[in-house]
Amino acid sequence: MLHGLPIPGRIQPTAREVYRAQVGNHLDWRFPMRKYEKGLDRPGILVCPRCHAISEQKRWYIDEARYRELRTVPGVRFITCPGCQRIDRQLYGGEVHLRSPLLAANKEQALGLIYHEEDRARQSNPFARLASVVDRGEELEILTTTPFLAERIGKAFRKTFKGELELEHLPYEKFIRVRWSR
Ligand SMILES: [Zn+2]
Repeated sequence: MLHGLPIPGRIQPTAREVYRAQVGNHLDWRFPMRKYEKGLDRPGILVCPRCHAISEQKRWYIDEARYRELRTVPGVRFITCPGCQRIDRQLYGGEVHLRSPLLAANKEQALGLIYHEEDRARQSNPFARLASVVDRGEELEILTTTPFLAERIGKAFRKTFKGELELEHLPYEKFIRVRWSR
């Protein structure tokens, strides 16, 4: 039998085998340098050329004057912000369906209300965005990137035009269906 004979070509254990014997099987596969890399994660100033959101100190916010200032500063990186990425990837958080003969008669006011709510929601969350607004005369269909913005739009319509508002949170999902009619 071959028992007891040296295995050809494997006389010395490899460095990994020695290390594994010292630290155990699981730790072996973690990269020890990882924890030091964390401190190096300083993305600097990021700017989204599409929606003009700014990230400084890893926090995104909206400030149009600051955007104009940063546009020409060297070292500032231009990237697509998470809000614009959600729109690109069609990751929606809410759907708003508005229906009323009033909409056709007051289209400008209705659209103004929708964009105004987006502006206000973006002040606290730059990723709260309108992904699409479809005008069908007496009906408007809106997709938003966050549930909160969809809810805000529905409530703004009830406040301004009265009527019926229905909010439906989808169970186990970050998604809301909002229906307003009058
Ligand atoms: Zn953006």
